[in-house]
Amino acid sequence: MPSPAVTITQRGADRVSSGHVWIYRADVLDESQAHPGAIVRLQDRSRHYWGQALYSSQSQIALRLLTRDERPFDRAFLAERIATATSLRQQVAGSAQAYRLVSAEGDLLPSLIVDRYGPCFVIQTLTQGMDRLKPQIVEILQQAFSPRSILERNDVAVRELEGLPEQKGTLAGESISEVEAEENGLRFTFDLMGGQKTGGFLDQRENRLAARQYARGRALDCFSYTGGFALHLAAQCDSVLGIDSSPEALGLARRNQQLNRLTNLEWKEANCFDFLKAADQERQRYDTIVLDPPAFARQKSKLEAARRGYKELNLRALKMLNPGGFLITCSCSHHVSEADFLEIIAAAALDAHRTVAVVERRTQSRDHPILLTVPETHYLKCLVLRVIGFFS
Ligand code: SAH
Repeated sequence: MPSPAVTITQRGADRVSSGHVWIYRADVLDESQAHPGAIVRLQDRSRHYWGQALYSSQSQIALRLLTRDERPFDRAFLAERIATATSLRQQVAGSAQAYRLVSAEGDLLPSLIVDRYGPCFVIQTLTQGMDRLKPQIVEILQQAFSPRSILERNDVAVRELEGLPEQKGTLAGESISEVEAEENGLRFTFDLMGGQKTGGFLDQRENRLAARQYARGRALDCFSYTGGFALHLAAQCDSVLGIDSSPEALGLARRNQQLNRLTNLEWKEANCFDFLKAADQERQRYDTIVLDPPAFARQKSKLEAARRGYKELNLRALKMLNPGGFLITCSCSHHVSEADFLEIIAAAALDAHRTVAVVERRTQSRDHPILLTVPETHYLKCLVLRVIGFFS
């Protein structure tokens, strides 16, 4: 049966030509043939073919391009895309047991996340179209990996934009919630059903390793979650304090500490803004500080507030670093570009009266690929900075 056609404007066609994969609702001229979540053929007014896409009847992102190829996007095509994504991970995930196997648009599988935690796979299908493909995705993963379990963590608010319910549970295999996996030689327990995201922040794996390279002395890990950075720092530092506002996250952080028999770590449940303000006023000093806050600018309208938030955190952290100290500072808001982030930190450094060197400009781990023509896929910025001078 031929796929339904959706007619798009010239501007929509220009988006495809520019290498982007999203077409907005305003660029849809005729969607009368398409049902929610269908795989559709894109055509312009003169019926010229532009590719195949996942169609959403509700989201402002009406179409997500799957391929410009004429070949039908069927189960075999989907399996090939997952195999291509897998082959990259074989090269970039190294010995990591927890990594992102499929990173949505970055792997040309828009709105599909597949995270692997050892023998367990956790998926998110975040659009009507990808949600309809869920049974096929589960089958393909079963055939390729024979996993112990496949779970879904579709309990995310973005699904509302698609008119999809929030849901989580076991899709195949055993109903497991907790799993242990190694990262950079450390053991971590992941709470796949109860934790944030799919259980872990896998995009920071390479940055946690990088942070370890610079860590020394007295260290602070702000927005610690289950201790990802803190545990990496601990091997190199005299002491590490991890701060998070979530008691559940800190409960797991303590367990992770025990799992790795580390004794020089402490945890504190607090709002990092309040903690940093008080610590700065008490003239606390550190040699290594990590800042890994949640996304402050999920929408463009929040950009100004986000800038203020990043500036405040970074200003306080820079003031509290001893001479020669390192700040590993992150932003995962894609609305804040790397250039914006550098500008915000520069303003913070000037206000803190510190001269700061940029030691490394990093991004998300390589299992979260960045598409050259889709800027939104480059969302994580991670700067390694060093305080090399004070001025009055
Ligand atoms: N650094 C972590 C990931 C951090 S995710 C890692 O490598 O795994 C962001 C964390 O910030 C979450 O654990 C969340 O609970 C916490 N958080 C959010 N707002 C906070 C606030 N104002 N103060 C302290 N923690 C906060």
